[in-house]
Amino acid sequence: MARIRKRKYGPGVPPPQERKPFRDVSTCFREIFGSKSYKVCVDGGFTCPNRDGTCGTGGCVFCGERGAGEFITGNGIREQISSAMEKARLKHRAEKFIVYFQNFTNTYAPVPVLRAKYDSALADGDPRIVGLAIGTRADCVSEEIADLLAEYARKYYLQIELGLQTSDDQTARRINRGYESKRFTQAVEILRQRNLNVVTHILLGLPGETKEHIIRTVDFLNRHDIQGIKIHSLYVLAGTRLAQQYQNGEFEPITMAEYVDWAVYVLTHISPKLIVHRISGDCAREMLVAPEWIMKKKEIMEQIIQTMEKNGWKQGEFFSEQPFQIPSEIFQKPK
Ligand code: SF4
Repeated sequence: MARIRKRKYGPGVPPPQERKPFRDVSTCFREIFGSKSYKVCVDGGFTCPNRDGTCGTGGCVFCGERGAGEFITGNGIREQISSAMEKARLKHRAEKFIVYFQNFTNTYAPVPVLRAKYDSALADGDPRIVGLAIGTRADCVSEEIADLLAEYARKYYLQIELGLQTSDDQTARRINRGYESKRFTQAVEILRQRNLNVVTHILLGLPGETKEHIIRTVDFLNRHDIQGIKIHSLYVLAGTRLAQQYQNGEFEPITMAEYVDWAVYVLTHISPKLIVHRISGDCAREMLVAPEWIMKKKEIMEQIIQTMEKNGWKQGEFFSEQPFQIPSEIFQKPK
């Protein structure tokens, strides 16, 4: 007997994923590449200067043992890509792919090593692979590395993902980020001198942060020439220092209502030109300690969209154009 699908959103109302009041990345990628495109995540075998003792040990308090990318399967870059592409083709009907070097710090190696790893992602010349996304830290972006990245940007779509998380240096110390926010300013400047596409990650709900911090982080971002944003909800992963703090009662995650309120603030105050790559976190169920609501991705998205719709708000509704300015006293080029 055929199953009757319940109409959840009312007659004529499309589901949330089809009525986003922001510049959603899937739509933008479809416009750029002409078909459904999907990011396939890769563990390139990197580490992080915040783990190996170069600038810190133990990593950021929320960082899991794999340095993100907990869903990745397969050995070696090529195998991971083939398996992820096949899954995305079957599950999401994706036709074009962007290889996302996700785990740890993907510009943290000498240039020849970086080149070899990026090349191996593109090695077989598969025309379905149209781009690279490189996740990294602001203090691992140098002129030399930016020159290398610019070479790929001449042939492929390229986005550099900088995990800022917050503009507040006190929070940055609390979470053991390992660099000050002025380093982000320097990295963006280096990348934009080469016209590279910068996507910034921010985390809502960091220890000690309130909505006031989010307002300041958005203001900070609006003073930078970035092209995209990922808004993540902080969650507690098993085995992290944040998990210890949570278990000791030193850290309490924000509620879903707070997250929705803060995410709506971000979306309505960033530039309408930014591409929004993400509006929630993504956690492997078996690794999650708290909060439970993080798993309700559709509900989070729906609440964000409904709040914006109810108020008649769109992305950038309250954005005010500010001159792009790097305070001269903090700008010193890294070696
Ligand atoms: S910079 Fe990234 S990979 Fe390094 S410790 Fe922090 S979250 Fe983990």
